[in-house]
Amino acid sequence: MKFGTKAIHAGVHPDPTTGAIMTPIFQTSTYVQESPGTNKGYGYARGKNPTREALQDNIAALENGKHCVCFSSGMGATDAVMKTLRPGDEVITGDDLYGGSYRIFTKIYEAFGIKFHFIDLTDANNIKKYINSNTKMIWAETPTNPTMQIIDIVACAEISKTNNLTLVVDNTFASPYLQNPLDLGADIVMHSVTKYLGGHSDVVMGALITNDDAIHEKLYFILNSTGANPGPMDCFLVIRGIKTLHLRMERHCFNGRKVAEYLKNHPKIDKIYWPGFPEHPNHEIAKKQMRDFGGMISIVLKDKTIENTFKVASSFKVFSLAESLGGVESLINHPATMTHGAIPKEEREKVGVVDSLLRLSVGVEDIEDILADLEQALA
Ligand SMILES: *Cc1c(COP(=O)(O)O)cnc(C)c1O
Repeated sequence: MKFGTKAIHAGVHPDPTTGAIMTPIFQTSTYVQESPGTNKGYGYARGKNPTREALQDNIAALENGKHCVCFSSGMGATDAVMKTLRPGDEVITGDDLYGGSYRIFTKIYEAFGIKFHFIDLTDANNIKKYINSNTKMIWAETPTNPTMQIIDIVACAEISKTNNLTLVVDNTFASPYLQNPLDLGADIVMHSVTKYLGGHSDVVMGALITNDDAIHEKLYFILNSTGANPGPMDCFLVIRGIKTLHLRMERHCFNGRKVAEYLKNHPKIDKIYWPGFPEHPNHEIAKKQMRDFGGMISIVLKDKTIENTFKVASSFKVFSLAESLGGVESLINHPATMTHGAIPKEEREKVGVVDSLLRLSVGVEDIEDILADLEQALA
């Protein structure tokens, strides 16, 4: 089956008792047993819920994966991956990361004795310098948030396999429509389902997808033991959201390209980060591993004062000033004070996350209205 057909049909079967085409919202905490230990495969809803299972099967299919476990948020999913590690283990990760990933690594898991190396992953060879006998994992986010660096997944996978590491790819920005890291050699794909998969800014959720039975068993054990499971209503909303993922992504990509081209030579813009430009330093890798370039764009304003940046950020009418991304509505975000506020100024400025950087999540509105809004806000 091709992508759009899978988005609509994979994992979702008509309800056997009524024929309802949509998987019901199984809003239940427990399941009645015929006699102790004899049940219909469901014991308690932290462990299993049919609405969640339909969604998990659907997301697994979209990532060409065998298994998927859904969590109550993207950070809940990240937390579960970290719980597969032990004190003394080391993780090699990127120097441009989602702020919440940086925060959980440094503020939660460093205290439990796990060591993180935040390095430039755009040259995968850099990884080799940091590998020692304690290294267990590579955590890569691509495209990166918010400077849109592209990390070569195949190159990371080769190093990971040679050294017996686990390669985790945060695929939130690309979505499975644009990129399938498992096909490129990753061991685990992580999603903030909150973003493109949900797509309607109404759910917070995370997911982990893998082809490896042993990794899946571990992740599912952690979910059931620690309880960061999503509720059935949220799972239903995401099943519904995903049915239009391919349609939304097509428009996100179309609008993203138009916005990038419009802003590229704009007199008020100093720098623009979008992997679709041939002069983007990682454009060739983007072309190789992604099917298109998406709707995420970051810009640096020419007028670098914080007053000007705030004024521009507050002047939009179609774009809304908000954290998050990947929904149908266009959003503008100021990473330095919003999504990346948890990263120290020196750290974020090293990778270009300066005070005058704004991140756009280009939505699926009519492109004429989006461009007109950019024009008036920048003016
Ligand atoms: C939002 C986001 C997360 C965290 O996901 P939540 O669902 O907000 O917990 C992780 N990685 C990236 C790239 C994100 O954009």
